[in-house]
Amino acid sequence: MSRFLDHAATSPMRQVAVEAWIEHAGKLNPGGQYSAGRKARSVLDDARELIASLLGADPVEVIFTASGTESDNLAIRGLYEAGSSNRVISTPVEHPAVLETIKSLGLIGADIELLPVGSDGRVDDYEPLAKPAALATCMWANNETGAIMPLHEIIERASASGTPVHVDAVQAVGHLPVDFHQLGATTLAASAHKFGGPRGSGLLLARRSPAPAAVLHGGGQERGIRPGTIDVAGAAATAAALAEAVGELEAEQLRIAQLRDDLLAGIVAQVDNVLVHTTQPALPGHLHLSFPGAEGDSLIMLLDHAGIEASTGSACASGVNRASHVLLAAGVSEHDARGAVRFTLGRTSTRADVDAVLAVIAEVATRARLAGMAG
Ligand code: PLP
Repeated sequence: MSRFLDHAATSPMRQVAVEAWIEHAGKLNPGGQYSAGRKARSVLDDARELIASLLGADPVEVIFTASGTESDNLAIRGLYEAGSSNRVISTPVEHPAVLETIKSLGLIGADIELLPVGSDGRVDDYEPLAKPAALATCMWANNETGAIMPLHEIIERASASGTPVHVDAVQAVGHLPVDFHQLGATTLAASAHKFGGPRGSGLLLARRSPAPAAVLHGGGQERGIRPGTIDVAGAAATAAALAEAVGELEAEQLRIAQLRDDLLAGIVAQVDNVLVHTTQPALPGHLHLSFPGAEGDSLIMLLDHAGIEASTGSACASGVNRASHVLLAAGVSEHDARGAVRFTLGRTSTRADVDAVLAVIAEVATRARLAGMAG
């Protein structure tokens, strides 16, 4: 039996989401002006209202998309096009959904500034936010280390200079309390499969003003920000998953963080020279570590062989550059960054999962270090 410790990559679908999905799989176009269309529309409206109430937004601010990546693209590119400045501010530790999007804006004339981060991977210099920009974009919590970013500071400073802020909350929604209005961001991206909803269902929260300009063009659905026929079953499943995730959030945060802390304590008690990249405040389920002298890919393969499913944590971990851009930005050496493994616990995680890792980790680390680095 395999032990799944890669919840940050994707989390198994919740039963409530599967049921909602199946119940509404046959729904037709919610834009149809006949009975079947109205029925689909009513399911979609309910999903929108529930999601809005769970995330502290108005229903009109909820836009259904097809992924977290799509939400990030629509918001960042859309705010850039709606703005009058060519400055874009971000951080070097963003997910590729954000980093590659701003890089593409660079090709059409954007002046990109990345806020420096400290050795904990969190922004530690806010100076570039003093001058107005088309937008600033920052993640709520890092997908590799789990680090919660100093968002309030960023939003406060950006707002003072009139700069709209996009928040990539893909790792946060369903895991931390989220109140869109209280946060003060302009737009916020989420992804259902990170909180037990279906893969291929994303959310974008977007204030009425300033709103992202249309990047995709079509039939005008979702305020024209995300045109295209909406997946009603996906929206209903997303709402059902989010309701359950938010309902159990407080208890799960404690339970999962305890398991994570025990996993960390058990690993450092058994293995010498472990670098711990996850520092507080962090998401409850994240544990990102390096075993210097080992290659992340070897560690993952040996773990997999032992029935443990984990990842290196880096979205660009295959290919020539095996070191994570997040760890390099935080000043970790390439040698150490290449020995990274990310364990992420979630809703289905149990004490037995932690014990299973602890039963094999010493052997796995020894064998991976003996195999050495790929050169
Ligand atoms: N942003 C962050 C922080 C993520 O962790 C991910 C997925 O891993 C994404 C964006 C992209 O989300 P999706 O897989 O829904 O496209």
